[in-house]
Amino acid sequence: MFNETMLQMGQEPSVIRELFAYGVARKAEIGADKVFDFSIGNPSVPAPASVGQALIDLAQQPAAQVHAYTQSAGDPAVREVVAENLNKRFGTNYRGANIYMTCGAAASLSISLKAVLEGAEEVIVVAPFFPEYRTWIETHGAKLVAVPARESDFQIDLDAMEAAITPRTKAIIINSPNNPVGVVYTRETLEGLAALLNAKQAEYGTSIFLISDEPYRELAYGGVEVPWVPAIYANTIVCYSWSKSLSLPGERVGYILVPNTLDRWEDVFFAVSGAGRALGFVCAPAVFQQVIARCVDEPADIAAYERNRELLTSMLDELGYEYIQPQGAFYLWMRALESDAKAFSEQAKKHELLIVASDSFGVEGWARLGYCIAPETITNSREAFAALKADY
Ligand code: PLP
Repeated sequence: MFNETMLQMGQEPSVIRELFAYGVARKAEIGADKVFDFSIGNPSVPAPASVGQALIDLAQQPAAQVHAYTQSAGDPAVREVVAENLNKRFGTNYRGANIYMTCGAAASLSISLKAVLEGAEEVIVVAPFFPEYRTWIETHGAKLVAVPARESDFQIDLDAMEAAITPRTKAIIINSPNNPVGVVYTRETLEGLAALLNAKQAEYGTSIFLISDEPYRELAYGGVEVPWVPAIYANTIVCYSWSKSLSLPGERVGYILVPNTLDRWEDVFFAVSGAGRALGFVCAPAVFQQVIARCVDEPADIAAYERNRELLTSMLDELGYEYIQPQGAFYLWMRALESDAKAFSEQAKKHELLIVASDSFGVEGWARLGYCIAPETITNSREAFAALKADY
């Protein structure tokens, strides 16, 4: 009667959303200050004041100027401003013609995959990975191939990557700064990956697209470098959103960059436009395109996340937890105290600690802690973390 796969997907609970919903109910039951919710990646820093001001200004403009359809790829003037912002930061020479405005990184990824996939091909992701990658890859008829990250530091394991690439590999999705691990890929890692992909493209006579999912690009701490990926590997498509950097996750606004350094970039851009059309992702929210044009140069306010990172890591150090030192995004990857991460997450719940089991991200034995929360939640969670440790 209707699509069974979609039915299943709609019914399937997202573990993160489920835990978040549990947290909301539990807070209503026992009080918000008694529940330590590290479940979800909703930015806790408010959007910059300039966003509110831009909205007030836009509300005064004639409706036809702000509420009308834009071109499918976005307002040409907005796309020029976005390209110019990238040029200033990365020494590139992009134009509006390289930018396709979208409804956030989710749309950017789904459109980009649809644009490049031709059938039963393979898309490689680095595990642990953002769970929705599987949804988008499989929806467009391809197979997800998970390559575990290097165990020592969660950088890309180039040997494992080499072993996983086949003539059917159409794309690789990377995400740095990374959700869920918080790692930032080094220049050395990315250069090694580029050399490998160039060699494999030459060996197989194929095109392998590197899809760089970067909603956390500006959220990097202690001056760590987040290298500009298209400058390292020519066949790169960038998927971006302002959900995290400007704290606008609900506004659904982002872009796809098809760099002019990419082989046959104009045709790839047409394929992106076709995919956007096929998926109904045309004309990203017009008001927020205009907001972005006014606020694109606003720096991301990362001070609060950086302070939370310090609070959390020093607490976990004192209590003797093992974790990966986060360099970016607002997640911490902590070793579970038993091999069954789901059981560990359930045990944590008994102490009102909401942490996401690593199974959702395609690996076992770890948990993700989102620290985009009030600092008091971290400080007040100390006893709960101590009690959880004492359980093992
Ligand atoms: N990619 C990663 C790694 C994410 O963490 C998220 C959201 O949390 C997305 C993509 C989707 O971002 P958006 O909310 O802009 O669609």
